[in-house]
Amino acid sequence: MPIKVLDPKTVARIAAGEVVERPASVVKELVENALDAGATQITVEVRGGGVSLLRVTDNGVGIPAAEVELAFERHATSKITSADDLTSVLTLGFRGEALASIATVAQVDMVTATVGSEVGTQVVLENGVVTHRGSQGRPPGTTVTVTNLFRKLPARLKFLKSPATENSHIANVVSQYALAFPEVKFTLMVEGRVTLRTPGSGRLLDSVAQVYGLEVARNILEIESAQWRDSRSDSTQVTGMVSAPSVARSSRSYLSFFINRRWVNSRLLAWAVEEAYHGLLMEGRHPVAVINVALPPAEVDVNIHPTKTEIKFHNERAVFLAVQRAVRQALVQQMPVPQIEEVATTYRAPSAGEVGTPVSASLFPPALVANQTPASALPVLRVLGQFRSSFIVAEGPDGLYLIDQHAAHERILFERFLGHRDASAAERQALLEPLPVELTPRQQALVEEMAEALEEQGFSLEPFGERAYLVRAVPAALGEKDVAQAVLRFLDLVEREDAVSDRRERVAISLACHSAIRAGQALNPEEMRELLRQLEETQIPRTCPHGRPTMIHLSADALAREFRRR
Ligand code: ADP
Ligand code: MG
Repeated sequence: MPIKVLDPKTVARIAAGEVVERPASVVKELVENALDAGATQITVEVRGGGVSLLRVTDNGVGIPAAEVELAFERHATSKITSADDLTSVLTLGFRGEALASIATVAQVDMVTATVGSEVGTQVVLENGVVTHRGSQGRPPGTTVTVTNLFRKLPARLKFLKSPATENSHIANVVSQYALAFPEVKFTLMVEGRVTLRTPGSGRLLDSVAQVYGLEVARNILEIESAQWRDSRSDSTQVTGMVSAPSVARSSRSYLSFFINRRWVNSRLLAWAVEEAYHGLLMEGRHPVAVINVALPPAEVDVNIHPTKTEIKFHNERAVFLAVQRAVRQALVQQMPVPQIEEVATTYRAPSAGEVGTPVSASLFPPALVANQTPASALPVLRVLGQFRSSFIVAEGPDGLYLIDQHAAHERILFERFLGHRDASAAERQALLEPLPVELTPRQQALVEEMAEALEEQGFSLEPFGERAYLVRAVPAALGEKDVAQAVLRFLDLVEREDAVSDRRERVAISLACHSAIRAGQALNPEEMRELLRQLEETQIPRTCPHGRPTMIHLSADALAREFRRR
């Protein structure tokens, strides 16, 4: 469609308001234009937090030479022609205001070429007025360079945060679109360095790996494309990915929602996702999720906010349920308590190094996670015995359970340690005489980085000359005669847990792993019952803090089948 200025009646129907709040808003509008132009490669360059320079280059359809100036007119768009079109918009843009708004608050240089045009068109605008028009060779596509953003608006400049913060807002915008459009190759360059690059393979997993890293990508579950029908809406389709509970994060900023591929904020959908994790995450933990909802355009109003990031569903309940069910289904189908047939692939036996050290004294004081209802409750289990001094054999109402005593104890201790918000909550063991230990430079760096989390768990470590530390107190859970050795072994574990990004969690996992009873340790029936009782009280009894199963289940049915009784 050619670019045209919308009639006043349509303009009146468009949500009014400012589009350009900060550099990231400019990036959002330019990237949306590139996507609407069908680009398969989009490069974003940023300097000085986006104030000195922002450049977006695409290989989309370009703008015909005769329409370039028109594109910068207020309410000029090629995407809708009348107010009626507002109910069926499938493009990201439709207001015809972005280029006009950007040109009034910055200097803009655009070079654009369409397929088949011999040369591209260049225009430069200052204060919203074209000051230069010429031609320039370039392949089909568009490059928009924005400089001196807000230079004439000192009040706006003052409102901006540090370049690093503005850069991170920009990186977030580019990341979100990279997740929404895995088939598009995105490159983000900040101050001359490539900070994000997606392959444009069309696989969401590849984008997730680039945006959130390998640890998340390895632990992400695909949402099966499922259609939910109800009486009012034609159909709502939910696709995307959600993290396994083991890689939860401590903030909600890892939730992305795309409605018909438009990135939106939605508290409703954030709630739907969190509901789906009910019972699988500990308090204060949040999942990573990329949720795409496709529904008929008439079912959603995208014209309620100038930046188009807020939307309104005509049938909120239907969308809420569709998202909640799709996520829940992905979680339940892909991470049940492993059944015996799956054991070979999901169960990892404790390694040789985990065998043969004494029961930690920390098993028998009652768990501190009291008065929290266990979220994904275990059935009542009756201890039958121990196998190979490593597994507890128990009977439940629906079959036989094998519990990995080390993994189960790790889960119990992990939740208890994570509950320590300050050193006073931790059980400490003060040393009669401070004990010097010598650390490697790496260990020393680790101790400095983790200082706060270590203190919360009851460690008191003081620098003592070069490389040496004085140990004044340790968590009682470290419980060994040779404290110096125990500290070093514990630090080794902390070093190994480098996949855990949250410091408090990393220390708690390491301490749990260090102090949990080992495989190979004989337990008496009373000890086994106590272990299961404490496991029942945990919030997530079925997996250890590394996400491995604490138990496997052989159902009565499966047994009957094996013995050919049915
Ligand atoms: P809107 O996107 O709402 O239509 P804009 O002000 O962002 O409004 O853009 C105005 C018009 O300029 C668009 O409708 C489109 O025709 C054209 N345009 C803008 N950016 C590009 C681009 N990167 N490639 C092709 N056409 C573009
Ligand atoms: Mg636009």
